[in-house]
Amino acid sequence: MFNETYELLEKTTARYKNNIGVYFPPTSEVEQFVQEKGINAFYESVDNRKTCCYLRKVIPLNRALSGAKAWVTGLRAEQSDNRQDMPMIEWLEDRQMYKFNPLIRWSYDEMLDYINQHNVPYNQLHDQGFISIGCAPCTRAIEPGEEARAGRWWWETSKKECGLHVAGR
Ligand code: SF4
Repeated sequence: MFNETYELLEKTTARYKNNIGVYFPPTSEVEQFVQEKGINAFYESVDNRKTCCYLRKVIPLNRALSGAKAWVTGLRAEQSDNRQDMPMIEWLEDRQMYKFNPLIRWSYDEMLDYINQHNVPYNQLHDQGFISIGCAPCTRAIEPGEEARAGRWWWETSKKECGLHVAGR
């Protein structure tokens, strides 16, 4: 993660006086992946990248959602083509829970307006041209005119998703 992301975690915790659950990836699986494929394997193939995302994101998410009745996300439709048809509320058969995407129809500017009006903590990288923010090695700022997800896995031409929000996980 970027330092700015950790700072956001601290600011959010302080602002809302509410401890946020933190979930780390499974150590032995990540160690094995790095041992076999290399420390920067995610740059070398889409398969490696998806494996890395599965280990470092999907497995911890599955732990976080285990036993939960609902999942609330910050997804917005304009972030990627894959999200255009996502509903605000959906039933996830595989997880047996509702997924609620309250921001799905919000534009980036609407989100900024809300942040400013309500003094919501946000990732300072947004002020430096980072629109969609993930892991540090896989995220860069975008240039004017580039689409929102252009800074994520920029070396790939595949669909820019990490697997967290893919149906039929
Ligand atoms: S975004 Fe990059 S570093 Fe993060 S889990 Fe996916 S491939 Fe690994």
